[in-house]
Amino acid sequence: MAIKRILIANRGEIALRIHRAAQEMGIETVAVHSTADADAMHVRLANHAVCIGPPPAADSYLNVAAIISAAEVAQCDAIHPGYGFLSENAKFAEIVEAHDIAWIGPKPEHIRTMGDKVEAKRTAGALGLPLVPGSDGAVSDIGEARKIAAETGYPVIIKAASGGGGRGMKVCTSEDQLETLMKQAGTEAKSAFGDATVYIEKYLGNPRHIEFQVFGDGEGKAIHLGERDCSLQRRHQKVLEEAPSPVLSTEQRHRMGEICSKAMADMGYRGAGTIEFLWEDDEFYFIEMNTRLQVEHPVTEMITGIDLVREQIRVAAGKTLSVTQSEVIFTGHAIECRINAEDPFTFAPSPGEVTAYHAAGGMHVRVDSGLYAGYRIPPYYDSMIAKLIVYGRTREKCIMRLRRALEEMVVEGVKTSIPLHQELIQQEDVLNGDYSIKWLEEWLQKREG
Ligand code: ADP
Repeated sequence: MAIKRILIANRGEIALRIHRAAQEMGIETVAVHSTADADAMHVRLANHAVCIGPPPAADSYLNVAAIISAAEVAQCDAIHPGYGFLSENAKFAEIVEAHDIAWIGPKPEHIRTMGDKVEAKRTAGALGLPLVPGSDGAVSDIGEARKIAAETGYPVIIKAASGGGGRGMKVCTSEDQLETLMKQAGTEAKSAFGDATVYIEKYLGNPRHIEFQVFGDGEGKAIHLGERDCSLQRRHQKVLEEAPSPVLSTEQRHRMGEICSKAMADMGYRGAGTIEFLWEDDEFYFIEMNTRLQVEHPVTEMITGIDLVREQIRVAAGKTLSVTQSEVIFTGHAIECRINAEDPFTFAPSPGEVTAYHAAGGMHVRVDSGLYAGYRIPPYYDSMIAKLIVYGRTREKCIMRLRRALEEMVVEGVKTSIPLHQELIQQEDVLNGDYSIKWLEEWLQKREG
């Protein structure tokens, strides 16, 4: 089928990102927005806009009935969900397809499988991906939990099967804490995700977070687009991402990439996906798969020259991927800084009016953002207001350019995390690529003194 008009079921920079890819393909866009986003850039630029509700996401960006009605009224033939909101909601994907609207995303059954972390782990294992040692599925009985933890060896991490966004995890260092932490994790998971199911994994001491971008055509063909290193995290949230990872060899990249693409081919996976691993002592351990576009996808685009949103739209329209594995060539290095409207020291959100705005520019500099002078950042949503993505032929050149670009960015009226990034890329460990998922938090603690 031909896609002529896409409804973008999202907001902020990712809505704009999708709009841009669509326009470049000659496809019209329809923005849906809450009353708080009436003045947003993606709403201004989209070919059509429909207000779908009041500010709270539950009444607008998560309002399935309103979004489907908007798609019907505006005669959209496809919906792109972006990331977050309804992007990993299998039920929503099914509803979209039941209305004869193309879902620009994976098959609903794959979203469902991967959305349940216990199921995801089981599936990943069956597909030949290396797993973190731990329980074989959900654990509810404390006796069983003790046995598994003892076999795995302490410390262990108790994770919510329905968890996400770094929430619902408890690290347990000894058997006497296990019962209490299991109960706490279950209760927290129940209230946060409506599902008390938890499972146990070995807690890796000092791993890196390395994820592989995969892409399937839904018909049994799949490719990988290499990895991203997202180890610089605060509270399990990514802060800065880079591709390629400073620690992987070409051989390791191809070996793991092939395992991932083969898994996706065997699964019949459709569209973009990311397989996340922890990496320690040269070993990969699968932790989860995200069945959507990631925030950090531009670093992959920078080093491969492939427009991931364009590929998503192609596949949703029943076309093949525009490249084969041997046509995917990795060149140079790219880094993305997530710029949040927040205090760079306390991390307190800082919504409000942007009084002045100037985006960095120049060769190999990309800014994905809906900001403009006079824009009011609403307090209702995620605090990420821009992504600065920079490319260089080598990692060193990329960092030099990033330093220059961060210097050029002007966002006045609100506090932003730009100073944090400026400080970060001066650190010797960051310059050397010598950091694990623990590094940033430890550094922040030292910085506080
Ligand atoms: P979420 O879906 O909430 O993001 P993930 O399973 O992707 O949860 O884990 C998020 C982060 O938590 C990882 O990037 C890593 O920093 C940490 N983490 C998860 N599992 C482990 C583990 N077994 N050992 C050590 N750290 C872990």
